[in-house]
Amino acid sequence: MSAIAEQMEAQLLSPRLSRRAAMGAMALGAALAGTGRPSLGRPLPPPRVTRKARNLIFMVSDGMSAGTLTLADLYLQKMEGRRSNWLRLASDPAFRRSLQTTHSADGPVTDSAAAAAAWGSGFKHTNGAINITPDGRQHVPLCIHAAQNGKKTGLVTTTRITHATPAGFSANVPLRDMEKEIAAQQLSRGIDVLLGGGTKYVTDELLAQVRGAAVVKDAAGLGAVDTLAVARLIGVFSRHHLPFVTDRDASIPSLPVMTERALQILSRSADGFVLQIEGGRVDHAAHSSDAYALICEQAEFDETIGVVEKFIAGRDDTLLVITTDHANANPGITLYGARGRAAFDRLAAPATPRKSFEWVYDQMSLRSSADEKVKAAPGLVEEALGVKLGETELGILTSSLRGKRAVPFAAANVWTFVLGSILADHFGVGFVSPNHTSDAVELLATGPGSEAIGPVVDNTDLHGIVVAALGLAPARNLPGMEELVPLVKPKTED
Ligand SMILES: [Zn+2]
Repeated sequence: MSAIAEQMEAQLLSPRLSRRAAMGAMALGAALAGTGRPSLGRPLPPPRVTRKARNLIFMVSDGMSAGTLTLADLYLQKMEGRRSNWLRLASDPAFRRSLQTTHSADGPVTDSAAAAAAWGSGFKHTNGAINITPDGRQHVPLCIHAAQNGKKTGLVTTTRITHATPAGFSANVPLRDMEKEIAAQQLSRGIDVLLGGGTKYVTDELLAQVRGAAVVKDAAGLGAVDTLAVARLIGVFSRHHLPFVTDRDASIPSLPVMTERALQILSRSADGFVLQIEGGRVDHAAHSSDAYALICEQAEFDETIGVVEKFIAGRDDTLLVITTDHANANPGITLYGARGRAAFDRLAAPATPRKSFEWVYDQMSLRSSADEKVKAAPGLVEEALGVKLGETELGILTSSLRGKRAVPFAAANVWTFVLGSILADHFGVGFVSPNHTSDAVELLATGPGSEAIGPVVDNTDLHGIVVAALGLAPARNLPGMEELVPLVKPKTED
């Protein structure tokens, strides 16, 4: 038993502690362990929604720690002389700010599947599962539920469309990796607007079975869509995730542009719409300890907030939620005073355009042998990041690339974390790990229904709030949804 657990038990056994206080402490302990909330079959607390929304726009900066929000704000102050839209709106009296708790059914640290499914159907899920709870029950996801009530639906993301977060609003699978099945469900269930990456799963063969949809494959095609004529739009712009902002060419549309097009189509709906917008690669840059790519992804998400802000201006019929599914890697400037400022200035304003760590990885992968990969690394890091590594730094990176342990924390021994740590001495931004964390996360909301979001909200509670705000009649199971589905242990959690 840990020292903290021993202290807690000693306090609980102390006669000075009242029974009520002891119960409270036990509940707190259970909550901290991530198992405090009953996960199944509990009635949702009655949301105190007093206004009805016609539309829901649910914006997700995937894997955004508070540190990521801060870094993007500092970046925009430096480069554009303004606050981020997110922090500006946090001071707007029309917006409510909340801290969201995110633990999954199996632990304090959620993955994106369990988190998105918590919003999508209102239950705690095991990491990896999407709208199938640990008891095997299937639950109607939010977009499908909304469509049953006459609403149009849309999913816009910088990841594969079939990735965990959009899947949480649209699919039922025991394992997030079942992206072929997710694609088939998203298309057959009639999601009206799908924009993102992932032709690996949203294949031409699958698209050929879809009737009445405009299909586009690049930014020019998306730009040419007549949004007044098209009712259903599917845009898939890369084989996997969209490239990071730092690595993109003009054939890939940006998140703000995809969002604009989605809103133009969905807002023609007679009965309103539900649109999820995900800055999905914020999470990936955090996983790879890549500070510059992280800031650029978050800045793009922030620009997308500006697009949505324009859409809701002067309307009182749209509930807007801006949040993240979980924290990730907890980045932050961690050098004091002027030293920190100088380091961040070097990071934010590079002499030559930067590429991501992913670009470095892709270039290394072109080399055939392990030795050649290692030999190419310093030149590629200099080309991508504008930093010539010193002898000691190179020794540490090389050791990590060869699979040796370079960090005391075993879970952090991936070369990207090692490179990120080395670059912290140059750019001032450190990361706690390459993984998600249990931190409560930021949430902003405005419009009808936002009044029901308190200062602290659990991810599962948001489901009940948006359903009540939209005034949805109870969901009807799709054929086969009464069947119980056994869960499968996930290979990946991210
Ligand atoms: Zn992740």
